[in-house]
Amino acid sequence: MKIIIHRGNEEIGASCIEVQTAQTRVIFDVGLELEGKPAVVPQNIGGVAALFITHAHPDHYGLISKVPAEIPAYCGALTEDIMRIMGTFNPRFGEVNRTFRHFAHGEPVQIGDITITPYATDHSVPDSHAFQVEADGKRILISGDFRAHGRKTALMEICARAVHTPDALVVDGTCVVERAPEEPQATVCNSEKEVEDGILKILKEEKLPAFIDASSINVDRIISAFKAAKSAGRTFAVDIYTALILWIMNKRYGHIVPINEWEGFRVISRCDLARPQRRTLYANQDRLGLSDFISTLYRVGVVKPETIARNPSQYLIKFNRREELIRELGIREYSYIYSMWSGYMSPQYDEQGRFQRLRNSPNVRFHFIHTSGHATWDELCWFIDEVAPGKLIPFHTSYPQGFREKYPDAIIGVKEIEV
Ligand SMILES: [Zn+2]
Ligand SMILES: [Zn+2]
Repeated sequence: MKIIIHRGNEEIGASCIEVQTAQTRVIFDVGLELEGKPAVVPQNIGGVAALFITHAHPDHYGLISKVPAEIPAYCGALTEDIMRIMGTFNPRFGEVNRTFRHFAHGEPVQIGDITITPYATDHSVPDSHAFQVEADGKRILISGDFRAHGRKTALMEICARAVHTPDALVVDGTCVVERAPEEPQATVCNSEKEVEDGILKILKEEKLPAFIDASSINVDRIISAFKAAKSAGRTFAVDIYTALILWIMNKRYGHIVPINEWEGFRVISRCDLARPQRRTLYANQDRLGLSDFISTLYRVGVVKPETIARNPSQYLIKFNRREELIRELGIREYSYIYSMWSGYMSPQYDEQGRFQRLRNSPNVRFHFIHTSGHATWDELCWFIDEVAPGKLIPFHTSYPQGFREKYPDAIIGVKEIEV
């Protein structure tokens, strides 16, 4: 069995790994470059027997529309939902319109002479998976993006135990960087629980109207915000897109995350500022099967800006048009919690200096509260040692050389690896 690293062994983004035997080729992920550089699907992709997607981040699935429709594509059921919704609400990711076959945790899928067993992992987007790949009497573990400090840490132990001593491990090395990235004055948390506690502290101490910017598909983070708001006696109010991600997750998994019929959770859906998302929702309700969700937006779980304006300090708000909403509410002084990757605040991404202005504003209590979707070095070492692979192949990292200090035999800069 051979592993071909098409992209992603010396960069974060554009993930694409192939595993092949004499008879069968399978591709794992077809990702976009994170920094908008062109990325291409592998040559001869027409001869591939199947494509497997680890999770719904564009650096893992973003080139899906370039994969011929006749190649079967496999992903988790929720991953398909998220990819479709993301592409619809964020046109820059492209609409996802192909068909998928679904896999489930621990259930092997046979593709020619290759057996692929998905294992659910802990990552910032739900429904992320690692894959055990078996053929020719050998086993490989492809970790996908993972961490062990979210809300599903036990999954990493389950995966490590289930795929013990594979012949090779292709592992997410995002945290391994040449030098520590410069963080702005920041609170970087060690776990999702610390994020929740950090938000709660701000809500309790500052007692101001509070706004949070976080990724809507980072459901662990949305739950942290909701729980913190609840503990502070506040209502968590979100935009339609965020509510829709939670709703679709509940539809797949049962009612496990807050949605708008829950106490303390509201959707800001019936105002002019919500109109663009409402339009997108209506325009795609048949294609995406969203009419049940739309009906929830007209029940009890909705809050209007004029209601918030009466007592804005009783809310924690995540709204896509935050600045306009703040103006409409007439709020002067507020707490602002930035809860995403710090890089988006750098001049490279924030060309208009919006975050700098927020940080400098005397009316804004600016906070950076975040924890990574990727394993820390300690978690990574724990996972590698627990899995105890024959060969170690760093992946999804800008500095694979950083592995060498602890793992001198790590395979670096090699595109084709015989297992
Ligand atoms: Zn990634
Ligand atoms: Zn990811």
